[in-house]
Amino acid sequence: MRIGHGYDLHRLEPRPPHGNGRAFVLGGIRIESATGPIAHSDGDVLLHAVTDAILGALALPDIGQLFPDNDPQHDGADSSIFLRDAIRRMREAGWDIANIDCTVICEQPKIGSYKSEIATNIARLIGCPVTLVNLKGKTHERVDAIGEGRAIEVHVVALLKSRNSIGV
Ligand code: MG
Repeated sequence: MRIGHGYDLHRLEPRPPHGNGRAFVLGGIRIESATGPIAHSDGDVLLHAVTDAILGALALPDIGQLFPDNDPQHDGADSSIFLRDAIRRMREAGWDIANIDCTVICEQPKIGSYKSEIATNIARLIGCPVTLVNLKGKTHERVDAIGEGRAIEVHVVALLKSRNSIGV
């Protein structure tokens, strides 16, 4: 087995015309929000952290190395392409997802009512049962940048199992 940790943070700004925040997309699901991430890609902080957790478990270069944020090709890119690439590398190396546990920390928007849709979409992108993907939402108790709604943060732990392993 192998374990990987993924972390990401994006600044949040009001949507245009009051700021430069992109549409708020989390785990590939669009969520209504007055603020959105500042990012080169679509700013899907959750898919970025899931991708980095898987790449980390494989001891591969991280998402910023594989998909540089100064590459015009990735301007506004759908972040599912990063996750799909990591999954392809994982399968080629002979590994499968054992489970993924994600913690999303932000003040707004509230993600509670989107959790099951997001987990279902991440499982679909990975090609694994939704029972292997868990998602938790927390606030930052209104303190610091995240608590003041100026940023969103995600932590992900991914466990991989070898396709040749017995049991697990
Ligand atoms: Mg990111």
